[in-house]
Amino acid sequence: MDKIAVFWFRRDFRLKDNHALFKALTSGFKVLPVFVFDTNILSTLPKTDHRVAFIHKSLENLNNELIKNGVGGIQFFHLSPIETFKKLTKQHTICQVYCNEDYEPYARERDKKVAALLNEQAIPFKTFTDHVLNNPQEVLKADGMPYSVFTPYKNKVLQYLANKGFEHYPSEKNLSAFCTFNTKENFLPSLDKLGFTTSTIPLPKHNYTEKVIENYAEKRDFPAQNNTSKLSPFLRFGLISTRGLAKTIEKISATFLTELIWRDFYQMILWWHPQTIEKSFKPIYDQVEWTNNPLLFEKWCAGQTGFPIVDAGMRELNNTGFMHNRVRMIVASFLCKDLQIDWRWGEAYFAEKLYDFELASNVGGWQWAASSGCDAAPYFRIFNPELQLKRFDPNLEYLKKWVPEYNSNKYIKPIIDHKEARERCLITYKKAINN
Ligand code: FAD
Repeated sequence: MDKIAVFWFRRDFRLKDNHALFKALTSGFKVLPVFVFDTNILSTLPKTDHRVAFIHKSLENLNNELIKNGVGGIQFFHLSPIETFKKLTKQHTICQVYCNEDYEPYARERDKKVAALLNEQAIPFKTFTDHVLNNPQEVLKADGMPYSVFTPYKNKVLQYLANKGFEHYPSEKNLSAFCTFNTKENFLPSLDKLGFTTSTIPLPKHNYTEKVIENYAEKRDFPAQNNTSKLSPFLRFGLISTRGLAKTIEKISATFLTELIWRDFYQMILWWHPQTIEKSFKPIYDQVEWTNNPLLFEKWCAGQTGFPIVDAGMRELNNTGFMHNRVRMIVASFLCKDLQIDWRWGEAYFAEKLYDFELASNVGGWQWAASSGCDAAPYFRIFNPELQLKRFDPNLEYLKKWVPEYNSNKYIKPIIDHKEARERCLITYKKAINN
């Protein structure tokens, strides 16, 4: 048997400018591409999970692209990663395994186990930085410690990038190094076979054009203007290169680049502080006594709070798997501060619904809204949903799209009084932080 290298696709479904893929394809060995439908993850998801359908479709496209290029397709496994590599090492003589880094706690643990398994057979497990602009350990404070405040972090990143530039790894020019053979694992299992159904939620479409980026700073905060890129699910699953995107937009919009740096920032925070998926970044905020009323939570989830901008956002989320960033901030503030419901409940609901769900940004966004995160909104910043609506959807276009019954007697009455809720919230937070 010829020695081969394995490339493991995880959150990088593209052939172009893929760091680890480039390293694998230029290693001098033929490269076998694999993908694992990880049973540890899939077994926890509802059967209608729309992200699985999106992943499935993206892999189908990727596999077709490989086949069109005259090389063998991806080998698919529907197993745990450990079982997959046990099987693969029996099937082939593998000399190296390549993949891109993933900073989520589950992924880090998984990779440690896979690396240990491969190490027993002296197979190196090689990982590379890809889905972020900088590795979490790359940009640190002068004292070698990680940042916890965004602006100085961003300034250092900009300085660093000005020297380093955005690397391009031309994996797309080396496709002939892929293995050409096919095995029975080359067939992409159907969604049905994986235990999932197609979703009623349409697949995501991005909105990225040069014009959107040119107008981004001015228009991005207005949900009705549809002037954000909607690239988040594509970045999440690596259908496009974050480096490539940053290089393209850097001279067009500093504001857009800042958002990509926020994305890196939260990845960095999660890497250094993995406990924050469950615990407040600032521990004192774990003393907040949430009311956690399940009925109010249900109304929030369903977009039936009687607060039009909140309901519009939640309905957008439920129907499309997306919600505009400004509205995410409003609904999150409303849940934690007005309804006094634990940010973890909201985070979990978003995690189930968002196409772009990414643990780092989701936990970061929620802890920002709950004021418990690093560099978060101060606890006394409590969004007024009515004022937010007036300011960011002045013509009520976004609102009418998602809450058509607004201004009719069919629209429900507010489930709480915002003024009272605000006072209650201030008391609760003050009590927690003065304890
Ligand atoms: P654009 O405005 O076009 O921005 C371009 C890209 O920059 C985005 O695609 C995204 O990758 C990144 N970005 C933009 N804003 C942020 C931000 N505040 N934090 C981190 N990255 C950012 N983003 C996720 O990708 N996954 C999540 O699970 C997620 N959960 C969130 C939860 C809450 C409570 C909040 C307030 C924000 C959350 N965000 C999350 C951040 C942000 O809302 C989305 O990235 C953005 O709305 C995606 O839309 P877009 O692609 O049109 O963004």
